[in-house]
Amino acid sequence: MTSATPDALELLLLVQEKDNQILAFQHQIKQLPERNQIELRRGEQEELQQRINSNQSELHENERTQKRLEDEVAILEDRISGQQNKLYGGEVKAIKELQALEADIEGLKERQTLVEDQIIEVMELNEPVIEQMQALDNAHTGIETDIATLQESLSQAEQTLDDLIRSSKIERQNLTEDVPNQLLESYETIRKQPGRVGIAPLAGMTCRGCHLDLPAVEVDRIKKLPNDSLVNCEECGCILVR
Ligand SMILES: [Zn+2]
Repeated sequence: MTSATPDALELLLLVQEKDNQILAFQHQIKQLPERNQIELRRGEQEELQQRINSNQSELHENERTQKRLEDEVAILEDRISGQQNKLYGGEVKAIKELQALEADIEGLKERQTLVEDQIIEVMELNEPVIEQMQALDNAHTGIETDIATLQESLSQAEQTLDDLIRSSKIERQNLTEDVPNQLLESYETIRKQPGRVGIAPLAGMTCRGCHLDLPAVEVDRIKKLPNDSLVNCEECGCILVR
């Protein structure tokens, strides 16, 4: 026989209160706003990272172009000084050859000026990209700081709720000590189904667990039972406190 004395049932109601508290705290842990905020910020950070990456490849592309142009200038300078050595070296004497050398040097210098202008253009192209890169990097660091702050606040909130859960569990444990085992097991079996009320008062004809009225015959039957017999609501199955 499950001994459902009025005292045991009163205790069991308090146990249920603790169980509900624990569930509420666990729900709060899952719903902590920081978690969502961190995810949002991470998303923003990823977008930023993509922009940083594409900026970086643009910069690298420009640097490669600049390097290629600078190499070309170096080659041109070599050729110019080679031709100038020939021109002023005294070995070439024929006027036509000297004129050809001068024309060649002229052409090479024109080309050099052209290439040097291109280098300046590339460097000018890079300026806004470098500026933007700085802004993106700053934004990235800013988000990093925000995430760290959010994480700190999240773990503090989790810690607080974990502590509350722990002390609720201890209080629950203390309450259950005077509840007969069979009664407690019966309650726990009902509660295993999510959202189910384990124990509720019968107020008049109404079960406070499901808020439905029991048939008058059933209420009559319950009233005639000894006051320590276990009675369950025939609608929702919860243990009734008379
Ligand atoms: Zn019910």
